[in-house]
Parts: sequence; C-alpha cells; structure tokens
Amino acid sequence: MNGSRSGQDGANSASTENFDYDVIVAGAGVGGISAALAAARLSRRVLLIEQADQVGGTGVFSSVSLICQFRDSTGRPINDGIHRELFPAAYTHYNEQLVPTYDERDLAAAYRRLIDAEPGLTVWTGCFVAGADLEDGRIARLHLGGSRTGTATAAVYLDATADGNLAALAGLRFQKGRESDGKLQSATVTFKVSGIDRSLLQQPDIRRWSAIHSLRRELLPYYQTLKEAGGTLNPRPGITCFPYPDGEALLFNSTSVLNVDPTRPDTVARGMEEGIKQAQELFAAIRQHPAFRNATLDYTAPKLGIREGRRIVGEYELTAGDCLGARKFEDMVAACAYSLDIHNPDGGASRLEPIPAPGYYHIPYRSLIPQGCANLLLSSRCISGSHEAHSSYRIMASVSAIGEAAGTAAAIASFRKLDDVRKVEAKQIRFVLQLRGQFTEGDVERIELPV
Ligand SMILES: Cc1cc2nc3c(=O)[nH]c(=O)nc-3n(C[C@H](O)[C@H](O)[C@H](O)COP(=O)(O)OP(=O)(O)OC[C@H]3O[C@@H](n4cnc5c(N)ncnc54)[C@H](O)[C@@H]3O)c2cc1C
Repeated sequence: MNGSRSGQDGANSASTENFDYDVIVAGAGVGGISAALAAARLSRRVLLIEQADQVGGTGVFSSVSLICQFRDSTGRPINDGIHRELFPAAYTHYNEQLVPTYDERDLAAAYRRLIDAEPGLTVWTGCFVAGADLEDGRIARLHLGGSRTGTATAAVYLDATADGNLAALAGLRFQKGRESDGKLQSATVTFKVSGIDRSLLQQPDIRRWSAIHSLRRELLPYYQTLKEAGGTLNPRPGITCFPYPDGEALLFNSTSVLNVDPTRPDTVARGMEEGIKQAQELFAAIRQHPAFRNATLDYTAPKLGIREGRRIVGEYELTAGDCLGARKFEDMVAACAYSLDIHNPDGGASRLEPIPAPGYYHIPYRSLIPQGCANLLLSSRCISGSHEAHSSYRIMASVSAIGEAAGTAAAIASFRKLDDVRKVEAKQIRFVLQLRGQFTEGDVERIELPV
C-alpha cells in the first residue's frame, strides 16, 4: 500500500504492512530534512523516518548555535538553497563583525514550516530503521521499528542518520575514527546561560566577535582555577561560547567527553552523564565572575552532541588534501568553506586549519554514493571521507548542501526510472540545484522536471 501522510507525531499502529514510496530518507537532522524537501519539491512521494520524537537532529537537540562559515574568501555564499531558507538572517543581515548564530527553537520552527508546506512529504517520528535487506547489490526493503512496524520500500533510499546506520545495517563497508587508532572526536553537552549583567563585561555587546573573544578571556581564569583544583575532568584548555541572536544569552560549547562512540550506547549514556556534570561544574565556576552572579543555567541540551560516527566507504573518499587544496571536482554537487576542525580525540586543544583561497572545496557526487549498492545515497555527515576531511564538511551548511544534492539525485533517479544512482549525472543534479537557488559550479544539463 502507499503510505499516508501522518504528520510529525508518528502513529502507534501495530501495522506489519509494507509502505511504498518513491524515496525514503532515514534520519531527520539537517541532512535528512534538506534531502526530503529537495525530493518532495520534485513531486516525489517521500517518507522521512526519524527515531526521535521530533525532527531536528543535532542542530536542534544538541544546540550547536554557530552558523559556521559558508562563504568563500570574498564573502560570496557557497552554500545557499535550503540552508538560506533555514537561516535567512545569516544571508540578509550578514556583517563580518557579528557572530552568526541561531536559536534552536527558531530552527525547529523553520523545519516544521518547510515540511508542512510539502504535501508529498510524510514524516514518521518515533520510528527507526531496524534492518535493511541487501539483495543483488540493491536495498530490497527496510524493516521498521518503534511507532511503525512492517517493511518499507522505495526506488531510492537515503542514509541521513549521521552515523551511517542504514548503510551499516545493509552490510556496506565503513570506517570509523582516526585512521591511526580509530579514536573519534570528543563529544559535548552544550548549555545555555541567561541573566548575564552585560554592563559588567569589558565589552558588553556580546553579538560582536571582539566581545565574545574578550568575554572568553575574562572567564578563563575562573575555569583555570576550577581545573587546577581538580574540580572537573574537562580536558579542554579554554572556554568556547557563542551569543544567542538576541545578544543576551550565551550558548556554551565547552564541555568535552572522550571515547564516545555513537555505535556503542553505553559510551553515549556515560558521555551524557559526564557532559552534564562538566556543564554544572563550569557554570558554578563562571558564576564567580561579577557579570554572572545572577545568571541561570536555563537549558542543558537534551542530546549529547556527537561529532563523529561511521564514514561509509564510497566511490570517492574526500581527503584533507582535497580540502586544504581547495580542490574542484568535475562531478561537484556541493561545496564546503569550513576549516578542518578536529576536537582532539585525546583531549587538549582543537586543530583548526582554514581552507585557503578561494576558501572552499567541492564535494563530488561520488562521495555520496556508497560502494556496493545501486539504490542508496549518503545524505548526512556519513559521506565518504577521511577523519580529517569529515571534521570540515560535518557542519550544518555543508551537510544541508549534501542533503539537498542527495535528495535531488534520488528524485532524478526515481522519475527517470534509473536502476542505479550512478546513472544520474552530476550536471543534471546541478541543473536542478541551480534552478532552486543552490550554489553550483560546472556545466549543467537541462532535464525535464515532473509537475
Ligand atoms: C557539540 C557539537 C557542536 C557543533 N557545532 C556546530 C556549529 O557550531 N555549527 C555547525 O554548523 N555545525 C556544528 N556541529 C556539527 C553539526 O551540528 C552536525 O554535524 C550536523 O548537524 C549533522 O547533521 P546530520 O543531518 O548529518 O545528522 P543529525 O542532525 O545528527 O541527524 C541524524 C538523525 O538520524 C536519526 N537516526 C539515527 N539512526 C536512525 C535510524 N536507524 N532510524 C531513524 N532515524 C535515525 C537521529 O535520531 C538523528 O535525528 C556541531 C556538532 C556537535 C556535536
């Protein structure tokens, strides 16, 4: 039977039916939602499956706050399209002196508004992909668990689970962690602090980069005293925080838990516990600063922020050399302008290396295609790349662009009835992307779109 639209609340039916769609997207973070929107806007019947009770993923439930670099060295946006729809002010009110941030509640509302506008898009929350049958190099069906049971089939499937869960369930090859020892980037519990008396800060307008750097310096001695007294296991040397867009509250992205592996639930539970403890320790320390005397810790992110999981082996593996060489690819379908940013798996300072002029690199379509499967595309940070390259393209701007490209490619494969995603040409994907306002480079091939 065809799946029916159920809204975002999920459904508690104990169905064992098969649900058939044109495109199925597993995971509703920025990569999955961008993919689902792109495919639905090409008149596909799309099913978006999310295991959590609400859509949003890391960007909403781990509250990451900063809208990371999506402009080239001259300031031109190289991620646009759906990313612009999610964060319009970062385009219309851009000012180099100000820290571009968002409020996770606004992002959740934007997701709801964009999803609700697509009648061809069905969302099941509280539902997860529990299995995937790979037969003759194709995914034959998904097995569902949670709010829906039964199987689901589609012409094309998208793995937007961040950790490559769908691809792994299908038995496809993956890599995990640093090549030398398999260690993953550190994880973080973020938290929000309000009620700051900004008049007591050296630079009160915390929307500005200069004020945020000054504030971090002001807070550092309190954190160092805490560390010297053995009051925290946080291995970070410094404090990282960003302003909320209102210029009043702060989001601290400053805790650090090592040895968290998203494929091992015991490490995730331990990481959350340790992250909350570090958040409380840090908050108690910074309250010694006069501006924070009456501050409140009014929000701790409900989900542990995990930076890294599986990287699925694809037709092309992006490398640090590609990123730092600002490499262009003939089959580009997305781009990334963000630095290599490795939160040290051993603790200690992060390694941050900017992309040299022109300030961005291409992401090739081949990195979205997993080896060994004809009807699956990678649509989140789990694309094919090295540990170092992943530390760059994992940010929301590029993951949104990756998702938009993957959803577009899946839709083209579906309406052109192609039996292998490799038969979709990058120049056809780019044609649709640039029609819809996304940044592309390279030639395009006009194709007729379904109405
Ligand atoms: C602490 C931290 C700080 C960060 N800071 C920034 C920042 O300042 N700016 C920035 O741009 N980026 C930042 N990032 C990176 C960025 O937020 C993430 O890499 C990005 O949001 C990942 O998007 P995604 O769509 O790939 O995955 P996610 O948003 O994680 O979504 C994946 C979804 O898949 C679901 N899922 C998993 N398995 C299944 C299954 N089997 N069935 C159904 N659903 C499933 C999950 O529940 C989840 O909702 C940060 C990340 C962390 C952890």
